[in-house]
Amino acid sequence: MALTDCEKCWSTPCDCGWEYRHMNDEEFAEFIARILTYKEDKVAILEKAMSIIKESE
Ligand SMILES: [Zn+2]
Repeated sequence: MALTDCEKCWSTPCDCGWEYRHMNDEEFAEFIARILTYKEDKVAILEKAMSIIKESE
């Protein structure tokens, strides 16, 4: 599944931002929901994700 084993950071789910690049809206929403349930540094992760998305557009 796309949400696991990022080729850059090897985290599950990815927390470096690389995997966000290939996500469609549905996958991204699911990813965010997962982060919000158990990631301690959720705010920092989401801020990084948003900056990466902006750069890739
Ligand atoms: Zn990653």
